[in-house]
Amino acid sequence: MRKIAMLTLFLISWPVDGGRIQYSSTPAQSKTQVALLGTGTPNADPDRSGPAVAVVVNDTPYVIDCGPGVVRRAAAAERKGVNGLAVAKLRRLFITHLHSDHTVGLPDFIFTPAVLERDAPLEIYGPPGIKEMTDHILKAYAEDINIRLRGLEPSKPRGYVVNVHEIKTGVIYRDENVTVKAFPVKHGSWKHALGFRFETPDRVIVISGDCSPSESVIEACNGCDVLIHEVYSTAGFARRPPEWRRYHSNFHTSSKELAGIAAKARPGLLVLYHQLQWGVTPEQLLDEIKQDYQGRVVYGNDLDIY
Ligand SMILES: [Zn+2]
Ligand SMILES: [Zn+2]
Repeated sequence: MRKIAMLTLFLISWPVDGGRIQYSSTPAQSKTQVALLGTGTPNADPDRSGPAVAVVVNDTPYVIDCGPGVVRRAAAAERKGVNGLAVAKLRRLFITHLHSDHTVGLPDFIFTPAVLERDAPLEIYGPPGIKEMTDHILKAYAEDINIRLRGLEPSKPRGYVVNVHEIKTGVIYRDENVTVKAFPVKHGSWKHALGFRFETPDRVIVISGDCSPSESVIEACNGCDVLIHEVYSTAGFARRPPEWRRYHSNFHTSSKELAGIAAKARPGLLVLYHQLQWGVTPEQLLDEIKQDYQGRVVYGNDLDIY
């Protein structure tokens, strides 16, 4: 029975072009909204918060990564009309890997919504090591938790509960709005680095996480609606010192490489994310991609909504 129900949903939801929703629908018409909460890198660019993306379905937010500034960016997105990103609703977090630029917002994600009366536990899904990181953060703030829950401040104890799920690959989460699949990506010497595929009733969204070129991204997308992929400028890279070139080529993906990946992955929309540019303008970075890729591509900025 369950299989039949799921198959029916599949047929109703993905009617066109091998599963791709034509990208004429605006976010307002779509059940699913994708909000870039932060498109930055470890560089402390004041215009770019740390990496974080929200997939919002039926006003329920699913946040991927929590770079610095994540909660305030969620509040800004709510102000822009994404009602699902009200801070107290932040209760599902998916972590691609444990690099600091993707996780220094974790205390913010745990505690700010709790203080603002989140009335449900926070569920965190991430690679091995996320439990230890979370435990350390909770220990570090033990004094604060105690004062807020046992002092005079009105508080909701359930909002301070954190459930951590260390995940592998395959389907790692499912509810009435989304099915989330994790897949492994290559990210230099990281043992565990993940990308995520979100299947919602009306769209398929793939987030690469940080990675050097990975076949798994192509397989996970395979004609998806939106592919959010990290990138660095090929021209900027050529000006980097050799030791940094060695690092970037092992840990990240150049614009030239991404063009090749996108041509095989065939997303309805490619969103450039976590951009490392080294002096190259957004237009130049887009041009680097367009030299080898004919599909639709945009340069992601904080608070862009698709
Ligand atoms: Zn990163
Ligand atoms: Zn990384």
